[in-house]
Amino acid sequence: MTLDHLPRVRLAHLPTPLEPLERLSAALAGPEGGPEIWIKRDDCTGLATGGNKARKLEYLMGAALERGAEAVATQGAVQSNHARQTAAAAARLGLECHVLLENRTGFTDGDYNENGNVLLDRLCGATVHRCPPRDDMEAALAELVAGLPGGADRVYAIPGGGSNAIGACGYAHAATELVEQAEAGGLGIDAIVLASGSAGTHSGMVTGLLGAGSNIPVYGVSVRAESAPQETKVLDLARETAAHIGLPASVGAADIRVDDRFVGPGYGIPADSTLEAVRTMAELEGILLDPVYTGKAFAGLLGLVREGAFRAGQRVVFLHTGGSSALFAYHGWFGEKRAMAA
Ligand SMILES: *Cc1c(COP(=O)(O)O)cnc(C)c1O
Repeated sequence: MTLDHLPRVRLAHLPTPLEPLERLSAALAGPEGGPEIWIKRDDCTGLATGGNKARKLEYLMGAALERGAEAVATQGAVQSNHARQTAAAAARLGLECHVLLENRTGFTDGDYNENGNVLLDRLCGATVHRCPPRDDMEAALAELVAGLPGGADRVYAIPGGGSNAIGACGYAHAATELVEQAEAGGLGIDAIVLASGSAGTHSGMVTGLLGAGSNIPVYGVSVRAESAPQETKVLDLARETAAHIGLPASVGAADIRVDDRFVGPGYGIPADSTLEAVRTMAELEGILLDPVYTGKAFAGLLGLVREGAFRAGQRVVFLHTGGSSALFAYHGWFGEKRAMAA
């Protein structure tokens, strides 16, 4: 598989590190030992505190520049990491940027609405537009673009999460990067665990693994939807991504797994397991997760390990997709309670 024929601008710090989590692995091990947990540090991609959207934006901004766009617009939740990284990428490329933020959680406090990613959107020079929750946010984005000077001829619309076949190529590329890193280090990988939201990361990863001839299973942990509709969304986008790349085959339904047990009360609302996961990673490894995506995905990994999904000595890679700047918008959720009972 090659992606070299697709327009791309270099924005991310790549390759991101692949590191062992030794204290965490030891803490999770039982008397018979336990799996070796590794982390792929896509929180270190750069673009105003890092995250998975940097990889997608390399291909999305490549397409925007090829189209001759002078501005970009995108949409997301108030604490959207995607909006923040789009704002940073636009600043870097000298493009005007509009972000449409949907108050999906209903939170009214000032930290949620102005701190964290919203602060960074503004610092990077984006114009912030807001709207109440809507069923069709892509339609709301199209309306916003149509009302801006020059409309869609001048303003390139990037879908929520950067999740279309173009953006997902960033994770097809990440899959090849991970496979090469593992081969160079002589590391067999037995599973990958990642957050599954707007689905570009999950779809791109499974597509890229197929293209790289790898059969590592990918465990998607939902941050919003129930398993069945999320699996359909991932499969559909994986098919579109394979076609966009020009791969002769696409993944099958059996290759898509989504676990919806860690969503908790809803999108952007932490469950107890989310808070425990964020604290555990910080206290044992000094690595910052986030309350919306990676806290839920890592709670999923902890859950899988505790129920014995992985054998002792198996190597499991957690994909850290970023998001820590949202912690500052959620600080009220983190009280004195400690991490995982020792
Ligand atoms: C957007 C995001 C995800 C989810 O990725 P999708 O491609 O939308 O499924 C995971 N983690 C973080 C921190 C994100 O910002």
